[in-house]
Amino acid sequence: MEIALRGIGVSPGIAIGPALNFGVRSLDVPKYQVKDKEAERQRFHRAVEAVRKELQDLYDRTSRGLGAHHADIFKAHQMLLDDVTLHQEFESRLESEGLNAEYIVDDLIVRYSKMLTTVDDPLFRERAQDFFDVGTRVLGHLLNTELDNLEHLERPCIIVAHDLSPSDTAKMDLANVLGIATDVSGPTSHTAILARAFQVPAVVGLKYVGAHTLPGDTMIIDGTRGYVFIRPDEETLRKFAAEREHDVVRRHSAMVAGLARPSSTLDGFEIPTMVNVELPVEITPELKTKAQGIGLYRTEYIFLNRSSLPTEEEQFAAYSSVAEIMKPAPAILRTLDIGGDKFVSHLQLAEEINPQLGWRAIRFCLERPDIFKAQLRAMLRASVHGNVQIMFPLISGVDELLRVKEVVREVCNDLERRGIAFDRQVKLGSMIEVPSAVAVADLLARECDFFSIGTNDLIQYSLAVDRVNEKIAHMYEPAHPAILRMIRQTARAARAAHIPCGICGEVAGDPLFTEVLIGLGVNSLSMSAVALPGVRAEVAKTRMSSAKQFARQLLGQTSVHTVRAMLNQRFKERQQSSE
Ligand code: PEP
Ligand code: MG
Repeated sequence: MEIALRGIGVSPGIAIGPALNFGVRSLDVPKYQVKDKEAERQRFHRAVEAVRKELQDLYDRTSRGLGAHHADIFKAHQMLLDDVTLHQEFESRLESEGLNAEYIVDDLIVRYSKMLTTVDDPLFRERAQDFFDVGTRVLGHLLNTELDNLEHLERPCIIVAHDLSPSDTAKMDLANVLGIATDVSGPTSHTAILARAFQVPAVVGLKYVGAHTLPGDTMIIDGTRGYVFIRPDEETLRKFAAEREHDVVRRHSAMVAGLARPSSTLDGFEIPTMVNVELPVEITPELKTKAQGIGLYRTEYIFLNRSSLPTEEEQFAAYSSVAEIMKPAPAILRTLDIGGDKFVSHLQLAEEINPQLGWRAIRFCLERPDIFKAQLRAMLRASVHGNVQIMFPLISGVDELLRVKEVVREVCNDLERRGIAFDRQVKLGSMIEVPSAVAVADLLARECDFFSIGTNDLIQYSLAVDRVNEKIAHMYEPAHPAILRMIRQTARAARAAHIPCGICGEVAGDPLFTEVLIGLGVNSLSMSAVALPGVRAEVAKTRMSSAKQFARQLLGQTSVHTVRAMLNQRFKERQQSSE
């Protein structure tokens, strides 16, 4: 029987294919007394040996495909597998309790992972994830159960999961992922952002998709409208297969037409349309022909899915290559924004109670000057290879920005002392994504060279709506009068201080908002590459004077619903008049 579910479409397009159920499987772990302890010990060692071979195989394949850095994680997992304390603990419990190997291993996984997640350092929490991964592999062998592996998929499939962490998503075998469907998450979660970047159709917040889907079930993902069909009947399948063909052609011609337009308004105001990137694979010479720069490089992805911190040299190579490719267009590099939802999410162990309000982004960097300075050095050194600009996430006030600038100064002095070249005029920008930063935008504007409004977080913090929680996703509303006012206030403060103000949150990629954002005084828009053609087409249809007037009209409204209705109506009229 066909099952249709409605969720939140977060990455457009249609995908049809067999399901692959991914996630922490609730492994049924039996508990019993063993008669032959030696036999149990042997069984444990055989499982460990099998995992060692598996990890070696993953290391070889990954370093061949993606390079040694990405494969490092499997070396680290091998080291965890050989951890002497764990082996000793296994031995002593087997000896004293006489319980079966899978029970002891499962218990060790739970205890050690929990212990590591309580340490006040995100790197330790990442280790908890590694420990969990390795332990679960051993458990899988003891129980003769096959475990999931998103890095190497045998055939094209649709990933069905309760949740996918950004790190799971970043390491997916993209050639074989047709679509994504998850029970939880929202439109501005980093998993959704990555799905858009990879142009993989995705629907999130489906609540029960995991429970309804069996491995291999045929599925349809409609990422544009937010529908998912499980075991569709013949007719639904025919309809969506035809629509998929049509969709591919339509999106291709829209892209060609959209990108052919200039990124300026009808009355000649230039509004650069730039791109947000997460992974080095997205930064191709072709990108330069599409985008007028990189408005946001989420550098934290260089730090995920690996066993050690990236070195300064490695970062320098990544940053200078993007600067080189994009020059003379800007490459805005954002310093490390770790934390929030960029943690291991499927581990489901206690992390911070409020990670979105916790130790993330600039707060983390200011307390880890070793990591922060290495990144700044790499960015500054890359600045001689193109138009590098550096921006700081989650700035909440002037003191914080001044502390950041002090660290930058120290790094500059150090480079100077050592005779290492960097651009002394490199522009430093503040993200505006915390309500307090909006309130003091006039003060922050005096202390930096540009603003970039991060609406993803600004909406979450202003409306108190967790951006990754599907239960309240309907309350996550960029059209809220409070958000429009905050954008205006920020843009005005920037203008008064003669600095530019861009937007790099997801709203910048929504054509429905293009005109009003321009009318509110925003100077540039940065979005996922897939959104560029649609937004560029809207910029080209805009006249500054009417955009300002429209923005004023919207600012005069009291209700979200009226603002939404007016945006929809205006958009419809603009489409009709351009036909
Ligand atoms: C934002 O918050 O709008 C933003 C662009 O940053 P991120 O989505 O990476 O938090
Ligand atoms: Mg943000």
